[in-house]
Amino acid sequence: MILKLIVFVLIAGLIYRWFGGKIPFIDTEKKPKEEHEFGSLEATSKCANCGVYMTEEDALIYHRKAYCSNECVEASKKKLK
Ligand SMILES: [Zn+2]
Repeated sequence: MILKLIVFVLIAGLIYRWFGGKIPFIDTEKKPKEEHEFGSLEATSKCANCGVYMTEEDALIYHRKAYCSNECVEASKKKLK
């Protein structure tokens, strides 16, 4: 009886793993879309100097802050000094 239960649990575990292997495969198909949606939200950064919004691709990162242009980076450098 206990042996049957162990075999049942093992089979159930194998089926679960088989499905467990399948579910991440489906999730990986969905995730890029979700990441893209979140990515588009995160992609807009506000310039720490002039407050202009730009994409993260255009943003210049200086001291962990995003800047729209070299002028704003230089302006912030002057402010820091
Ligand atoms: Zn700026």
